[in-house]
Amino acid sequence: MAEKYAEQADTAAEFPVTVLEELRSSGLLGLLVPAEYGGLGGTLDDLLDVGIALGRVDLSAAMIFAMHCQQVACVIDHAAAPLAQELLPEAAAGRMYLASVTTEASKGGHLLTASARLEADTDASGQLRVDRFAPIVTGGAYADGFLISMQAPGARSPGEVSLVFARRSQLDITASGDWDPLGMRASHSVALRLTGRVPDHQVLGEHGAFRAVALRTLGPLAHLTWAACWLGAAAGALSRVVQMLRDSAKSKDSATKSELLLARLSRARQRLDTVHALLRHTADVYTAASTGDGDVSLPRNQLLINALKITASEECLRAVEDLIDAVGLRHGYLKNSPTRLERTLRDLRSAPLNYSNDRLHQADGVLALLDQGVRFA
Ligand SMILES: Cc1cc2nc3c(=O)[nH]c(=O)nc-3n(C[C@H](O)[C@H](O)[C@H](O)COP(=O)(O)OP(=O)(O)OC[C@H]3O[C@@H](n4cnc5c(N)ncnc54)[C@H](O)[C@@H]3O)c2cc1C
Repeated sequence: MAEKYAEQADTAAEFPVTVLEELRSSGLLGLLVPAEYGGLGGTLDDLLDVGIALGRVDLSAAMIFAMHCQQVACVIDHAAAPLAQELLPEAAAGRMYLASVTTEASKGGHLLTASARLEADTDASGQLRVDRFAPIVTGGAYADGFLISMQAPGARSPGEVSLVFARRSQLDITASGDWDPLGMRASHSVALRLTGRVPDHQVLGEHGAFRAVALRTLGPLAHLTWAACWLGAAAGALSRVVQMLRDSAKSKDSATKSELLLARLSRARQRLDTVHALLRHTADVYTAASTGDGDVSLPRNQLLINALKITASEECLRAVEDLIDAVGLRHGYLKNSPTRLERTLRDLRSAPLNYSNDRLHQADGVLALLDQGVRFA
């Protein structure tokens, strides 16, 4: 289904509504939701497998799914009973597609701070006022609800951040500007202004506790699932190139006789095997660290999770560049080649920017200083 509509959605930069319908009706929006709430009770490995599979055919659709699942994981790990009991059955039934609002114009991608502040509503007790400009919200025009990071009421610094859930029906939503990017065009990541009122109990965890949500759940899940989607996109590209080369292998001027081409194929495959190994290892470390006595926030764990994001975003992109060099202009650069390398390259170019690798390196420098013994996770 995702493959069928991918080209049209890319050309028109439109949200893949049919794919979302399929995610709703198949139960995949509730993949992570425990069975007791009606969900599929899937594991992290299941989530990564679906991310890879969707990424192979359409990276935008994969990221739409992955980002929704990141939000669901935040609800599972951090929402108190009334909110979790409301939201999880809705996600399981396919009625709650969740979008993410963390980026803010004034602070760029800096995840752990916020500029706009939640205000206690003086006209209605137990209610919070939301007024938030969100410069980039994947699927924001179609989401049923949003997890929004904002300064906690009465915050004394930009680092006191709360994560609040708001239903579409609780908000006035104004779209601003067009969505016409280089790649990830079907993610339809539009700019929105969100204003409205929500009850107090829609804050996840304590007020000001977003840092814990980000370190324990949102950051790790983002890096793990993004890496899976990017790996899927690059693996799909390699698979289509190999198919094309094998189809033409019998002809006397087949490119497979070129040693240079074989070396480039090898390099692309090596990059993907490296990312895959790092992805699975990081998933195992995260699973162990987030259960029992484990501690995801330890520098060695955070460093590994960030290393996965940086490595996957760079190596998957480079693998596609290797493939473009390997097959040349006709199948590497033209839009209408069945290899679809042109679209995959445009889509994957977003990976190092989607939470800037520069920011992660800066954070990693600080974390590296905290681990003098250089203990690996
Ligand atoms: C396809 C796609 C979908 C997205 N969907 C969403 C979404 O649904 N919700 C959402 O909230 N966000 C979303 N984002 C935003 C994303 O997660 C990033 O946070 C955002 O793209 C960062 O924007 P920026 O590059 O303008 O800002 P910045 O993070 O500010 O980075 C800009 C540049 O400034 C430099 N820089 C600035 N400050 C520092 C610093 N302190 N340390 C190091 N370098 C610095 C870096 O070189 C960086 O490349 C999406 C992004 C993409 C590409």
